[in-house]
Amino acid sequence: MTSSRDRYDVAVVGLGAMGSAAAWHLARRGQRVIGFDRFRPPHVFGSTHGDSRGIREAYTEGPSYVPFVRRAYELWDELSDAVGEPIFRQTGALSLGPEGNDMVRGVIASAREHDIAVEQMDAAEIRRRYPGIHVTDDLVGVLEQRAGMLDIDTALNGQLEQAAAHGADLHFDEPVDRWLPIDMDDVESPITIQTARGTYEAERMVVTSGAWNAGLLGKLNLPLNVTRQVMYWFEPRANREHFQEGAIPFWMWERSETETAYGFPDIGRGFKLGLHQPLETVDPSGYDREITELDKRRVNDFLANTFPDVAGTLLRAETCLYTHTPDHHFLIDIHPKRPNIVVASPCSGHGFKFAPAIGEALADLSMERRTVHNLDLFRVDRFVAPLTAAGD
Ligand SMILES: Cc1cc2nc3c(=O)[nH]c(=O)nc-3n(C[C@H](O)[C@H](O)[C@H](O)COP(=O)(O)OP(=O)(O)OC[C@H]3O[C@@H](n4cnc5c(N)ncnc54)[C@H](O)[C@@H]3O)c2cc1C
Repeated sequence: MTSSRDRYDVAVVGLGAMGSAAAWHLARRGQRVIGFDRFRPPHVFGSTHGDSRGIREAYTEGPSYVPFVRRAYELWDELSDAVGEPIFRQTGALSLGPEGNDMVRGVIASAREHDIAVEQMDAAEIRRRYPGIHVTDDLVGVLEQRAGMLDIDTALNGQLEQAAAHGADLHFDEPVDRWLPIDMDDVESPITIQTARGTYEAERMVVTSGAWNAGLLGKLNLPLNVTRQVMYWFEPRANREHFQEGAIPFWMWERSETETAYGFPDIGRGFKLGLHQPLETVDPSGYDREITELDKRRVNDFLANTFPDVAGTLLRAETCLYTHTPDHHFLIDIHPKRPNIVVASPCSGHGFKFAPAIGEALADLSMERRTVHNLDLFRVDRFVAPLTAAGD
């Protein structure tokens, strides 16, 4: 057991996209940070791998996300400058769907509310500009220019490097097995953290364990649903030039309420795409990471109706995990019983782009219990009543 002299200011449990961002912000504010990860990020077992993630500003999921993503753009630039490597690649973002679909409507609503320049297109215009897309007459689209791809590995390594450079003590391949308040009766009690390698103490804790969050916060009974998703990289069988950077932007396509997909231009590693798979709930520590015949059939059916020239050679495919809340908005808040613990589950398939801004908000909540960011949509009390009896 560490003595109280060795006590850290804050322990960050989980050093993926969100935890590495929190560790970076906390450490650069002079906090004594210890961080743990079950593996050594970036790794392929959680939610943060597969080369790239999309970033867009005219947020279809709700206009109130826009200021948050604007802050994230600033911080991605700052991180990029600090590590000396580009993280953001501006390709534009094209949202597609049949006339009247929610995704395109949501983009336009956000753009109007926040004065973001977007370009609306009918089927003829989409056909003219993007010959790789199979366009039906009811298709509509909206293009925003300040959008594109984030390089996952550069971003994640950068956040970890910056955290370490500011003194964070990062423990990889060391899962947290258990945490306990030192004094159960004191809601602000410092915390003991147990791993197979040791026992540590911290005044405060930030829980950013992604798909494993519900397990670490068992007594909160968070309604988090972990699902298996697949990312695919194809070498197009014809007209490869239609699918390269410059010829097609980052795209999202809502074909119906139950069929949505997204993808990226080929930047040298193939044309990447993913379907928002039906919700197949899995255990993050033991699920099938093999690509099945059903996976291949699903993606080929999708391509036949959308990008028929892409359905060529499958170069690579990887599984990944979404952690969904019931309303698909994030969960970022102070623990309802223990104000020195902050909890973040910002996934539902769309959290990565916000990571450095979420890290900043987590550092604010952990140090000051408030933040300038508007986190109203992400409150824990929409799922969990404030706890009154003892329980963590
Ligand atoms: C296929 C796919 C496509 C996506 N596309 C986009 C996109 O285009 N744009 C976008 O913005 N977002 C996207 N997302 C969502 C985004 O990737 C996630 O929101 C984000 O990666 C979540 O980060 P996290 O830090 O919560 O989880 P993770 O990065 O998974 O980190 C959690 C970490 O906690 C560690 N951990 C778990 N248990 C313990 C423990 N007991 N002790 C210590 N460490 C522990 C894990 O090892 C892991 O490293 C996508 C997600 C997927 C899966």
